[in-house]
Amino acid sequence: MKNLIDKLRTTKDLSNDELRELIESSEFDSYLFSVADEVRRSVYGTDIYIRGLIELTNYCKNDCYYCGIRRSNKCAERYRLSKEDIMECCKSGYELGFRTFVLQGGEDAFFSDEILCDIVSSIKKEYPDCAVTLSLGERSYESYKRLYDAGADRYLLRHETALTEHYRRLHPDNMTLENRKACLFNLKEIGYQVGAGFMVGSPYQTTDNLIADLRFLQELQPSMIGIGPFLTHKDTPFKDFENGSLELSLRMLAILRLMFPYALLPSTTALGTADKDGREKGIKAGGNVVMPNLSPSSVRKKYELYDDKICTGDEAAESLLNLSKRMESIGYKIVVSRGDVKKC
Ligand code: SAM
Repeated sequence: MKNLIDKLRTTKDLSNDELRELIESSEFDSYLFSVADEVRRSVYGTDIYIRGLIELTNYCKNDCYYCGIRRSNKCAERYRLSKEDIMECCKSGYELGFRTFVLQGGEDAFFSDEILCDIVSSIKKEYPDCAVTLSLGERSYESYKRLYDAGADRYLLRHETALTEHYRRLHPDNMTLENRKACLFNLKEIGYQVGAGFMVGSPYQTTDNLIADLRFLQELQPSMIGIGPFLTHKDTPFKDFENGSLELSLRMLAILRLMFPYALLPSTTALGTADKDGREKGIKAGGNVVMPNLSPSSVRKKYELYDDKICTGDEAAESLLNLSKRMESIGYKIVVSRGDVKKC
C-alpha cells in the first residue's frame, strides 16, 4: 500500500482499482497523512488561510434530503441578514485579520442579482485588499457574470456527488446533476476561482461514487475542494442514517492533497463537529484552510445544516486567537492574507 501512496504522490493519479484499495483501507493512514502533509508544506508551507464565513440567509427553495435548512423543514427558524448586518460582519472580520469573506446561504430569491451586486461591490470598495467568495447555489450564467463583474473573486458550489444515480437519491427530481456541473463549468469560464466538493458517507454512497467524485474533480480542476462528513439532521428525511466517518473523510482529504497539490482544501466545520479536534486532524491530513464563523451570533444557531453544528467555540471568528494557538501547537500558523490559490 505504501507504494500506492508514493505512486499517487509522484503521478497524481492511480487506476480505479488502486484508488479503491487506498480508499477502503485504513491501515496506512498515518503514512498517507504524513505524505499529504509533506506535499502541502512543499506548496503552502505551514501557512493556514482563514476565511470569514457569513451565513447570509437560511431561506432555501431547494429540498435536498440531507440538509437542515431544506425548504420543507418547518422547524427551521428562518432569517436573512441585511446589507448593514453583512457590512458589520466584514468590519469586525477585517479587524480580526480576515482578508476573505465568504457569503454563503440557501437559494433565496430575495437575494437578487441587484441586491447581491450592491453588497459585493460595497465590500470590495470598503476592503479592496480582500477577496469575496460566494456560495449561493445554482444561478444562471448571466447572474454569475454580473456578480463577477461586481467584484466577486471565488465561488463555492459542491457538486455533492458526481454520479446521476446517487445524485437522484440525495435530491428531489427538480434538481439535476447536469445543471450543477454546468454551473461549475460556467463559473470557471467566467474567471472565478471555483470550489467543488462532496460529503463523505452520505446515504447510499459507495466507493465507486467516491472514485467518480475524484474523476470529476480531475476534469474540473477546481482551485478549492470542500469535503466533510455527512452528518444527520433530526428534521430531514435522512435523520435515521449513520453519520459519515471522520476517518474516511480524513483519508479522502489526504488523497485529494496528493492528487491536487495546489488546491485550497478547507478543514471544514463538519470535521470540527464530528470530532472536537477534527479541524486540527484535517490540517494534519493535508488541509490548508479554515473558515471561522463571522455571522452575527444571534443567527448562528439557525444556520443548522446538521445536528449540533458547532458555532460558539473556537470555530467562531472571535476565538481566532484560540484557533491560532491550536494551529501553532500542531506546527502551523494562521496568516493574514487573501490566501489565493498558488496555481490551478
Ligand atoms: N445553497 C448553497 C449550495 O447549494 O451550494 C450553499 C449552502 S449549502 C447548505 C452548503 C453545503 O452544506 C452543501 O454543499 C452540503 O454539502 C453541505 N451540507 C448540507 N447538509 C449537510 C449535512 N447534513 N451534512 C454535511 N454537510 C451538509
